[in-house]
Amino acid sequence: MNGRVAVVTGGTRGIGASISQALIKAGYRVAATYQSDDVAAETFRRSTNVAVFRWDVSHHDDCVKGIQKIQQHMGNIDILVNNAGVTADGMFHKSSSQEWEKVLNTNLLSCFNMTHAVIEGMRERNYGRIINISSINGQKGQLGQTNYAAAKAGIIGFTKALALENARKNITVNAIAPGYIATDMVKAVPQETLDKIVAQIPVGRLGEPAEIARAVVFLADDNAGFITGSTLSINGGQYMV
Ligand code: NDP
Repeated sequence: MNGRVAVVTGGTRGIGASISQALIKAGYRVAATYQSDDVAAETFRRSTNVAVFRWDVSHHDDCVKGIQKIQQHMGNIDILVNNAGVTADGMFHKSSSQEWEKVLNTNLLSCFNMTHAVIEGMRERNYGRIINISSINGQKGQLGQTNYAAAKAGIIGFTKALALENARKNITVNAIAPGYIATDMVKAVPQETLDKIVAQIPVGRLGEPAEIARAVVFLADDNAGFITGSTLSINGGQYMV
């Protein structure tokens, strides 16, 4: 048990759930947040003993209050994993401003909201690990995902600039860009499209959430202090940056 406290947004389902579990296994104390799926969150809490907290990460004030609540329960936050994300796919010329706002706010504005709520404390304590979950489609673009690609590419720029600002404070900031991972988000894609996607992945399969989680544990480690501002691509060879 290393005793450090980690917060994982969207940490009760999919990749986030796997990240929460892997951090617990590595000895961290973990708080997992979610938006609305109480059943999934309660099932996850019961099976893992991970503390769960519900709020919408696209709302600034809710993030501030939520972080305060976690700190009251668990102490200062050492690790933040900005994982919560959504898609609202469709060709740009047919998309709405509501879809744009939802995707940008959940994936990117959330990084501001959450990070802003923890960064001063990390700077004061001279320690922090911030890991932002981007996407292969923020690196290469994807038809039908202008909103999502913009948000996920934004995360990479955010990661680099924040890494520079906080390097002297022993706070590392890194991004992970997963390829296609077998979660609810990807299972929502029609089978025909999914078959075409898998055909483009050199390793010949979707990734597993645990394959992203182990990279988070690696980057969260006290000994990972020389890795900052980087984007780690985990995509089965689908896109090599
Ligand atoms: P899932 O849809 O399986 O889970 C999403 C999680 O995020 C849920 O816990 C959900 O809460 C939470 N969430 C969604 N919106 C909000 C919100 N506004 N406020 C708080 N929590 C929210 O997603 P994945 O596990 O597939 O994806 C996780 C991350 O990885 C995302 O950022 C995604 O973009 C990224 N990614 C995923 C890939 C994939 O192939 N799956 C590929 C590349 C990147 P609730 O349970 O309440 O709905």
